[in-house]
Amino acid sequence: MEQHKNLELLREDQRRIATQIAIRSNVLGECEFCEEIIEGNEDIENAYKLGNFMISKNDPSVSIFEGNRSILTDTIKEVVEEAAYDCGCVDRMMED
Ligand SMILES: [Zn+2]
Repeated sequence: MEQHKNLELLREDQRRIATQIAIRSNVLGECEFCEEIIEGNEDIENAYKLGNFMISKNDPSVSIFEGNRSILTDTIKEVVEEAAYDCGCVDRMMED
């Protein structure tokens, strides 16, 4: 039970880091109005490259992945696929 909970927290942290990497590489973006995570302009490959680069140089922010590139790329893929295409803010502004 306790172990299961820790694993969930670990996954949660991994997803948070993967999201940050995707935002830094413009694969995902953050809406400046509602702060929802939305699709960015870059191909997902850019986030994979940045993630791999960070693992290669032992960046402390990716230490949670313990050097496991496939878990990192899988997590990036997961958060990018789940991101909203568009939060709707721009559409709402157009209506005003
Ligand atoms: Zn928004």
